[in-house]
Amino acid sequence: MPRSKQMDMSIILDLRQNFSQPLTAEHAIDSKMLTSVENSLLKGGSLTATITAQQAPKGLKLTIATHGKALVECDRCLEDMEVDIDTCNELTILSADHYEDADDVIYVEQGRKELDLWPFVYDFIALAIPLTHSHPEGQCNPEMESRLSQYMVQQEEPEE
Ligand SMILES: [Zn+2]
Repeated sequence: MPRSKQMDMSIILDLRQNFSQPLTAEHAIDSKMLTSVENSLLKGGSLTATITAQQAPKGLKLTIATHGKALVECDRCLEDMEVDIDTCNELTILSADHYEDADDVIYVEQGRKELDLWPFVYDFIALAIPLTHSHPEGQCNPEMESRLSQYMVQQEEPEE
């Protein structure tokens, strides 16, 4: 679970609302938020998270969709590159006294007033970044690329 360095970086869901009808809220996510997470692999970006909450027979069902662009370091030239983000995930909020071993469930104690969804939203965005990512062929920073490839060649030389 990523931890925010600053307290104001949050997406608060008020659990005291009436969720008998689906409630949808949009949240803007900026570079400041994306880089606030410790050891964030994201260098910035601009996204929208659309969160819909509705009471289900079992718990409160959340649908979290994120859309926008995130900046990450290119594997080849180490400069920033944009990645299109388009995710949709579901989570269920259950009372802690109904604990059972299940995935995609957030347990909250009885009487909890609000919940910060930002750590979950951040995870969904970070998980959408491909394991390897680089600029399209020929679009890397040529100077950086040649400097790095020289470095790699030097590294590969056998020790004397
Ligand atoms: Zn590159």
